[in-house]
Amino acid sequence: KAALPSNFIQSIIDEDLENNKHAGQVHTRFPPEPNGYLHIGHAKSICLNFGLAAEYRGLCNLRFDDTNPSKEDVEYVESIQEDVRWLGFSWDDRLFYASDYFEKLYGYAVQLIKAGKAYVCDLNADEIREYRGTLTRPGIESPHRNRSVEENLQLFERMRTGEFEEGSRVLRAKIDMASPNLNMRDPVLYRIMKASHHRTGDNWCIYPMYDYAHPLSDAIEGITHSICTCEFEDHRPLYDWVLDALNFNPRPRQIEFARLNLNYTVMSKRKLRELVEQGYVTGWDDPRMPTISGLRRRGYTPESIRDFCERIGVAKAVSTVDIALLEHCLREDLNFRAPRVMAVLRPLKVIIDNYPEDQVEWLEAEYSSENSELGSRQLPFSRVLYIEQEDFMENPPKKFFRLSPGSEVRLKHAYIIKCERVVKNEQTGELMELHCTYDPDTRSGSAGQTRKVKGTLHWVSAAHALPAEVRLYDRLFIKENPDEEKDGVDFKAHLNPHSLDKLTSCWLEPSLAGALPGSRYQFLRQGYFNVDPVDSRDGALVFNRIVSLKDSWAK
Ligand code: ATP
Ligand code: MG
Ligand code: MG
Repeated sequence: KAALPSNFIQSIIDEDLENNKHAGQVHTRFPPEPNGYLHIGHAKSICLNFGLAAEYRGLCNLRFDDTNPSKEDVEYVESIQEDVRWLGFSWDDRLFYASDYFEKLYGYAVQLIKAGKAYVCDLNADEIREYRGTLTRPGIESPHRNRSVEENLQLFERMRTGEFEEGSRVLRAKIDMASPNLNMRDPVLYRIMKASHHRTGDNWCIYPMYDYAHPLSDAIEGITHSICTCEFEDHRPLYDWVLDALNFNPRPRQIEFARLNLNYTVMSKRKLRELVEQGYVTGWDDPRMPTISGLRRRGYTPESIRDFCERIGVAKAVSTVDIALLEHCLREDLNFRAPRVMAVLRPLKVIIDNYPEDQVEWLEAEYSSENSELGSRQLPFSRVLYIEQEDFMENPPKKFFRLSPGSEVRLKHAYIIKCERVVKNEQTGELMELHCTYDPDTRSGSAGQTRKVKGTLHWVSAAHALPAEVRLYDRLFIKENPDEEKDGVDFKAHLNPHSLDKLTSCWLEPSLAGALPGSRYQFLRQGYFNVDPVDSRDGALVFNRIVSLKDSWAK
């Protein structure tokens, strides 16, 4: 038992444990349908289910809810396992597939028929909907509702053997066509689908519906608390009905919580798939996607995602979380762990006229002033350098503490330099290079370092720098809530046309040679970056900006 319940689900579990409802056991599950990649919303459910199991020393299953072959695929099965593992959770030997229960589920359906609680119905989908009625109009009983058990058993068997066309017959629960809850008006339990399943092949041509397969899969696995999102609240009476009709006791208890919504993105697998399939992004792992694989490729840490899920908490009330909170969690984590290095994204050449032509000095530079465990590296300093274009202004406003004609700045880890002369292209007037002088007495770490100037710039030595491509990302959508359907405008109309900015002539300090795919750095003054694990190559490095340095999260 947790010391103090930190959310309403823990309170429910505590109460069940006190009543010794499940012999002191807590057993949860994370049940994705393998019809797409996981997104940050799923991370909330993963952290919750695995987290509760850990807290109560219980178990958590990973179960593929693979009962609808039409949109499912092994590619998704594999990516989901990779993502859950990467988030830091393990299911040990508790990996299950609802499709492994097809035979059992069929047997349970036969039991329901025998108990007079299910029947084969010949109405088609439109007719079923019509007969079902509405919230203000009670349903009408199907003409097939009172078939004999014998006839139902035979018809159900023939459905299984493939004798009937898709859509021509279904198995329905016999509950209450006048129920105020539409889900209870004789819901469909099985439909005919002549589709190949990624695991069971062509063994089956009838497939169970979610509302039938889910409670039974939970019960078969001994799940005690079946946690799902609030859309299923109206389905809970049916969840309970299925288990009661088959005499499961004790039975799992369904508990609903509010799904995570994030602003400036969409989170339904259908919409994410649309972005992938129609080429709006480069794939499910595009660094702009809210998928776990996209966040991973972008450079997010699993720790920051778990921290985020912890902070947003678990409640019943639906709300939209500000993506700035996710970025805040990320910065906190990266600030501590990322070495600080120098990279010039938009280079401007600087020549130090009073520095000897062939001289190179290797300067000791620590990786972080806050975390000495990160150590240090040697930085080359020489006569020709690159600085950032935006760190120079020919006619600066007041309080511009960077470089301008006649002004002085410190080069980080190195010397104070002074801008003496500006060279421009005579025809175009374009800025070509700056000529500067350095003050040899001001080397960082030396006695002369006491002289102070207002600005400190990052830089790289031109002869030693590594060329790189750097990708800067912005929000995928310009609208805070792109999902909101207004005047029939499609969510894709709100895509941000400038969500990716590729900079192809960047220069990095040489210590980044051999940086491993996925490794993370702070580029001084520019943000946090990682080596793109897909496109980066030795000699052709590609970095992603994970997040900028500025935190807009209001605490
Ligand atoms: P989507 O609508 O994105 O397709 P889904 O609910 O159909 O999502 P599943 O694969 O069925 O996707 O989800 C697996 C589990 O993750 C379910 O228990 C579901 O409730 C949970 N889940 C899905 N989306 C969210 C979310 N945004 N926030 C919290 N939990 C979620
Ligand atoms: Mg689902
Ligand atoms: Mg879905």
